[in-house]
Amino acid sequence: MSGRDNKAIEGGLRTLAVHAGEAPDPITGASAPNLVMSSTFVTEEPGGFSAHDLSDDPGFLYTRWGNPTVQQLERKLCALENAEGCLCFATGMAAASGILFSVLSQGDHLIASDTNYAGVAELIRDTLPRMGIEISVVDTSDVANVSAAIKDNTRMIIIETPANPIMRLCDIAAISDAAHAAGDIKVVVDSTFATPVATRPLDLGADYVFHSLTKYIGGHGDAAGGAVLGSAEAIGALRLEAGIHYGGVLSPFNAWLIMRGCATLPLRMRAHEEGAMEVARFLEDHPKVTSVMYPGLASHPQHELAQRQMDNFSAMLTFQVEDGPALAERMAKDLQVIHYAVSLGHHRSLVFWMGTDDLMNTSFRLDGAQLDSFRAYAGDGVFRVSIGLEDGVDLCADLDRVLG
Ligand SMILES: *Cc1c(COP(=O)(O)O)cnc(C)c1O
Repeated sequence: MSGRDNKAIEGGLRTLAVHAGEAPDPITGASAPNLVMSSTFVTEEPGGFSAHDLSDDPGFLYTRWGNPTVQQLERKLCALENAEGCLCFATGMAAASGILFSVLSQGDHLIASDTNYAGVAELIRDTLPRMGIEISVVDTSDVANVSAAIKDNTRMIIIETPANPIMRLCDIAAISDAAHAAGDIKVVVDSTFATPVATRPLDLGADYVFHSLTKYIGGHGDAAGGAVLGSAEAIGALRLEAGIHYGGVLSPFNAWLIMRGCATLPLRMRAHEEGAMEVARFLEDHPKVTSVMYPGLASHPQHELAQRQMDNFSAMLTFQVEDGPALAERMAKDLQVIHYAVSLGHHRSLVFWMGTDDLMNTSFRLDGAQLDSFRAYAGDGVFRVSIGLEDGVDLCADLDRVLG
C-alpha cells in the first residue's frame, strides 16, 4: 500500500485543495476519502471517557470528540489557511458561538464590528451582555476606532471582512498589530466572504479565523457547516470546550460533501470572481443602477486595501436602485437564472434585498457617525448578490430584464 502521509502534502493552493488531509485508504487502496459514519470506535486500550482525559493524539473514541472523515476536512482546511489547528462545527453560527463563549468570561470586554453577519451581530448584542460580557460595537473599517475602544479588560476583537451585507473591508494586519501591542487581546476574523483563496487572516496576524462552510468552501448549497482555525493550543482548548462540551460538531456526511467542494475551491473562486467582475461592470453602466459596491472595482472606497489584502475579490457585490422594494418584488417573480434567496457562495447565483431601516431595527441598531458610514455604503438598502458559476452574459441579461 502507498506510504503517503496525509499530513505531509505540500504544494500550491490547488494541489492542497485536492490532496491535503486525504490519503488512499490503507486497507482497500480507495483513492477517494471514506465516509465514516460510525458514532463510536472500538478501543484496545481501556481508558477514561472525560474530555479531560484527552491526550495529544488519542485515536478515535466517539464522533463528538473526533471522526476520521471530519478530521480529513479539518486537515485540508488547515493546509488552505496555513493553520496548525482546525475544529469543524455543524454550522457557521455554531463556530461563532463556540469561539465567543469558550474564550470570553464574565467581566471581559469584546470589541465587535458594527456591521457583520446578522446572526453574529444579534448574538453579540443580545446574548453576550446577558452573560456579563461587556461589548463595544464600532466601525472597524478604521483601525483608529478599534484602538480607541480598547480597555484594560478587552479580551477579543471580532471582525468580518468583507462585511455582510455592504462589502466594507477591515485591515486585518493593522487591527492585529493594534490589538497585540495593547496586550493579550485575541483577534477573530470571519473570513466567509473572502475564503482562503483571497485572504489568509492568520498569516496577517489574526489569532483565529472562522468560516461558514455552508458558503464558498462547501460551495454547492447542500451542506451546512462551520470551522474555526488557529494555533494547535487554541484549537485544542476549543475542541475540549466548544466541540466536546457544547457539542455542535459537524456530521461526517456533511464533512464528506464539503471536502468534495473544497477540491474545486481555487478554481471556483477564479470563475466566481470573473463572473462578479462582469456583472459589476454591467451594473455600473446601467442607467437604473445608482451605486455598485464590489471590492474588485476601482470605484470601491477601499479598493486599495482590497488589492493589498485579497488575492481574489470573491463574488459578493451589492447595488442600489431608486426603488429597491419594487425591484425586489419583480425579482422574486421574474428572475429566470438567478434565485431570489438568502445565503451565498453557491454555484447558483443568489440575490436578496436588504433594507437599511429593517437591518437597523433588527440586527445593527446604529446611529450617528456609524449609521452615516453604513449609509455611505448602503443608502436606503442594497441588493446583495452572490455571483455563481453561470455565464456572466446570462446573469446580466437576467438582471437587465428585471431592471427594465
Ligand atoms: C452564513 C454566514 C454565517 C453563519 O453561517 P451558517 O452556516 O449559516 O450558520 C456567519 N458569517 C457569515 C459572514 C456568513 O455569511
